[in-house]
Order: sequence, then structure tokens, then C-alpha cells
Amino acid sequence: MIREFLLPETLQEALAMKEQHGDQAVYMASGARLNAAPTKTEKAIVISLSRLGLQSIKPSGVGLEGGWEIGAMTTLQQVIDHPELPEGLREAAGLIFSRNMRNQITLGGEIAANLQACQIVPALLAMDAEVDVVSDSEESCRMMVEAWQQRPYGLITNVIVPTTLGWCRSEKVGKSCAGLPIVSVSLAVNIKDGKQQFGIALAGVADKAIRLHDVEALITGQALQDREAIEEAVAKSVFPETDFLGSADYKRHLSSVLVGLLVAEFQEFNGRSN
Ligand SMILES: Cc1cc2nc3c(=O)[nH]c(=O)nc-3n(C[C@H](O)[C@H](O)[C@H](O)COP(=O)(O)OP(=O)(O)OC[C@H]3O[C@@H](n4cnc5c(N)ncnc54)[C@H](O)[C@@H]3O)c2cc1C
Repeated sequence: MIREFLLPETLQEALAMKEQHGDQAVYMASGARLNAAPTKTEKAIVISLSRLGLQSIKPSGVGLEGGWEIGAMTTLQQVIDHPELPEGLREAAGLIFSRNMRNQITLGGEIAANLQACQIVPALLAMDAEVDVVSDSEESCRMMVEAWQQRPYGLITNVIVPTTLGWCRSEKVGKSCAGLPIVSVSLAVNIKDGKQQFGIALAGVADKAIRLHDVEALITGQALQDREAIEEAVAKSVFPETDFLGSADYKRHLSSVLVGLLVAEFQEFNGRSN
């Protein structure tokens, strides 16, 4: 049960409070997870992030087009309501059906919660998004969302959408629009040194969202045409488990079909823009 609710005004204060209370305390964004059954926190002390000025959306640098720096406390609805942000990111934020939830859930909280059914994290993984992290024990640094996910630590202050992002789309299948996604998939294309680089990430097929680096390596250039081979490679790269949402075979099938659909969509887009 939460017994103390701390409201630091600066990052330094927040870090000092975490250092002081250690495992007894937890950072709280909006509490969509920490304050809701059955995922309510058992920690006695909550360190609120609400007064740290982490709610902002700004272009990531002078002279750099397309990149964005988004404060970790920005809600999914604020992402959707910002028309200049990449369409693919806004679409992924909209995969969470309930506007009430989108008004509460924060971008940093979504990444930190690292849930199997997360819906915006696959898009962030696929597009090579990064996070700024501060902690009391290590130097502040900027790292890929994927790297943070492998070794979560500290306090996420910003989420960075790369300037190289050219295209991103997501698809999900669920039993109802408001239900948990059975599988959700994002495909993103970054343009680096004039070359297209593909990012594929999925949620629902492992205990957290994963990126399919092996399949990405297959789908450059000519291989993009071979949708069947891509779908087959996806089916061989995911190892979902059977649960109340569906069987492992069904989830594997969905994964390959959804990636195939997005690849076909990108091809169409690519064809139109060439
Ligand atoms: C009814 C319901 C249905 C939901 N359905 C879905 C769904 O279908 N798909 C989905 O993706 N989500 C869903 N969620 C929401 C999911 O639980 C939240 O997206 C997620 O927990 C983030 O919420 P939050 O930003 O309020 O973070 P909080 O609940 O405040 O925190 C979540 C975790 O992240 C940590 N944290 C938060 N911010 C930071 C930060 N900046 N740096 C480091 N750590 C941080 C906290 O310490 C905590 O461990 C649902 C929630 C509810 C209540």
C-alpha cells in the first residue's frame, strides 16, 4: 500500500529521493499501471514524476528534419494530438482504444512497463527510437529503446524519434478493439546514407516486445518483393506461447501475415514515391 507520495520539483531531487529510499520506492508517471488492479504497486513510497517538466514535444535539433524529442511524461493522447509528429508514431499511440487510458498513459511509462501487450513500444523499437536516461549511480546517457529494454534502469526523461525515419506503420489483431492485442506488429524504414533500413518489431509473441533483426537483414532491396519468403522467415523467428488469447500456432501465423501485409503496404508506398 502506498503510504508516502513524494513530489520532487527537479530531476536531482527525484534521483536523490530514489537513492534515499532504494527498493522501497517507485517512480510514478500517471499510475495507469501502478495504481490499477491487478498491477497495483506494493511499494510504500511513490516518487511522482509530474512536476519535473517532462511533458514536451519538440523538434530534436536545428537543421535536422523529422527528428523529435518527446518528454517521457507526454501522454499517448498528446502524441496523437500533435499533427507534426510522424504519422506512424501517432498511429501506434492510437492502438490503445480507450481515450481515457490514452489521456493517462505516458510514453516513458509505456516503455518502462515493458508489457507483453504494449502497443506503442513495437513502433519505437522498429524506428530505432532512443531514450535519455538519468540515474543516481550511472552517467546520464542516450540509448536505443531496445538497449534500455534489455537492461532497464534509472529514470527515462525523453524519447527520441530519429531524424532518419522515413516510414512507419503498425497493425494489430485483437478479439475486440478494446481488448488486449493478440499480436501487434510495426514496420519502420529509416533512410541512412541514402539506403533504406528496415525495422520489424512485434508484441504478443514473447514476454516483452521484440525486434526481428534476422528478418530485417533479409528484406533489403530485391528481397522485399518476396513476401512469401519474408512471412516464412517471420514464422521461424517467433516463439509465442499458447494462452487465453490464442494458440502459439495462431500467434505465429498472425505474426507472419501482419509483417507480410506491412511489407506489401510499404512496397506500394515506395512505388508511389519513386
Ligand atoms: C484497464 C487498463 C488497460 C490497459 N490496457 C493496455 C493495453 O492494452 N496495452 C498497453 O500497452 N497498455 C495498457 N494499459 C496501460 C499500461 O499499464 C500502462 O501503459 C503503463 O503502465 C504506463 O502507464 P503510466 O505511464 O501511467 O506509468 P505508471 O503506471 O505510472 O508506471 C509504470 C511503470 O513504469 C515506471 N515508470 C514510469 N515512468 C517512468 C520513467 N519516465 N522512467 C522510468 N520508469 C518509469 C514506473 O516505475 C512503473 O514501474 C492498460 C492499463 C489499464 C489500467
